[in-house]
Amino acid sequence: MSEAVSRGATRRPRLTVLSGPSGVGKSTVVAHMRTVHPEVWLSVSATTRAPRPGERDGVQYHFVSDDAFDKLVANGELLEWAEFAGNRYGTPRGAVQDRLAAGEPVLLEIDLQGARQVREAMPEAQLVFLAPPSWEELVRRLTGRGTESPEVIERRLAAARVELAAEEEFDETLVNTSVQDVARELLALMQVD
Ligand code: ADP
Ligand code: 5GP
Repeated sequence: MSEAVSRGATRRPRLTVLSGPSGVGKSTVVAHMRTVHPEVWLSVSATTRAPRPGERDGVQYHFVSDDAFDKLVANGELLEWAEFAGNRYGTPRGAVQDRLAAGEPVLLEIDLQGARQVREAMPEAQLVFLAPPSWEELVRRLTGRGTESPEVIERRLAAARVELAAEEEFDETLVNTSVQDVARELLALMQVD
């Protein structure tokens, strides 16, 4: 049996959702994964949050105003959206649908509320939870990133407690001890080879 046939016989999950508390290392893992496999397509979300230093519109996010976000919601252009720690974030529906229609694997990096909406809308999606090695390490990473004020860090840590409590809702948990290991494990779950 040829490799293509045997691989074709395995069900290939097409939509993978990566969630986990702020600061756990989601962006770092995805960035590393894409240096190894640049062809893995990651949805670029819309957000009302201000760009961090170094972030570029259309690359990490589509940075939009509150009014523009309202319109995206009203026009049904978001596959899911949520408010997280004072800002809104959403997944543009069209680009995801185009990739799925082309049979390409799709990766969403979104929060717990978004992951739940995707599960409702697309029960076949694979939900992956990225967990920190410990609570102390999560606090260290979030604080050490140095991108948020103490007040915003507190809001994100409050959200993190809720997200960590929901880990069992996910199909898989990966513990982010080593970025390289987790990136490899995520690729394996997405069946990208
Ligand atoms: P998230 O996207 O989940 O909010 P980031 O990718 O921004 O998190 O990572 C938060 C901080 O933790 C960053 O400073 C990053 O360099 C660091 N970090 C990520 N993964 C690891 C790891 N495995 N070990 C140590 N530090 C890490
Ligand atoms: P950050 O501000 O740190 O980039 O992201 C904050 C949180 O919003 C993270 O948990 C991130 O995964 C989540 N997020 C990013 N984009 C989206 C999105 O399109 N939808 C939802 N629901 N959450 C998102």
